[in-house]
Amino acid sequence: MPSPAPGLPEIRNVILRGLPSKDLAMLRPHLHSVPLVMRQVLHAASAPIDHVYFMEEGLTSLTASAGEAAEVEVGLVGREGLVGTGVLLMTGATAVHRAFVQVPGSAYRMQSGTFRDALSQFESLRDGCLRYVHFMMVQTAQCAACNARHGLPERLARWLLFSMNRIESDELPMTQEFLSYMLGVRRAGVSVVANGLQSEGLIRQSRGRIILLDRAGLEAKACVCYRLVEDSRARIMEVPSEHKLGTVQYGRDCALSGIDNLRS
Ligand SMILES: [Zn+2]
Repeated sequence: MPSPAPGLPEIRNVILRGLPSKDLAMLRPHLHSVPLVMRQVLHAASAPIDHVYFMEEGLTSLTASAGEAAEVEVGLVGREGLVGTGVLLMTGATAVHRAFVQVPGSAYRMQSGTFRDALSQFESLRDGCLRYVHFMMVQTAQCAACNARHGLPERLARWLLFSMNRIESDELPMTQEFLSYMLGVRRAGVSVVANGLQSEGLIRQSRGRIILLDRAGLEAKACVCYRLVEDSRARIMEVPSEHKLGTVQYGRDCALSGIDNLRS
């Protein structure tokens, strides 16, 4: 993994950490660290994507409209990923989903035009981002299957584990009202199921937080989708060995004129 230059904070985002240190050094002046606050909207649906966000800490939810002013979560982005994949896919700089901060943290923000330029110049960045898009496709497809086939207790257990794994904490700031919104079910149903998990000693709900008490127990409660997605995340997002620090194969990237040509 790349080591930070003296005076620079360590990078935690998995895509950026997978870059050869030379590429990361060239991109770094264009990556601006920004705080992410609760409920902050990074992209509104159908609005232009001006910046992409490499998540460092916290959690961002992607939601889709389900009509009648209802929204349902269709994706979770933690430090393994990037918010703004529409720019990567060259489908135009318009957001399909709304992206908002569910757990506060921070991200490295890059201007969309600069990001597009960087993708064309840095094969390592392109490969890392495409790996992430692949993982998101797996996650989205599995969650669609899960919503159709599995019960609320299994889905809630899966969702709590997904979220806690991404923020690397056993404590999640989350209310039942917000949970019902995320899972697309009525609050009364979430309340019954969450209280059931608490009665079983798997979690504890306390003042807008959910605390994990028994990971093995909650994993046993979750449906098979949990392990399928998490195994995919580990496999797909694994950093290629040739990108690791000290064994960097710079390849043709070294022959490019580099970041100077990027928009800032
Ligand atoms: Zn499931």
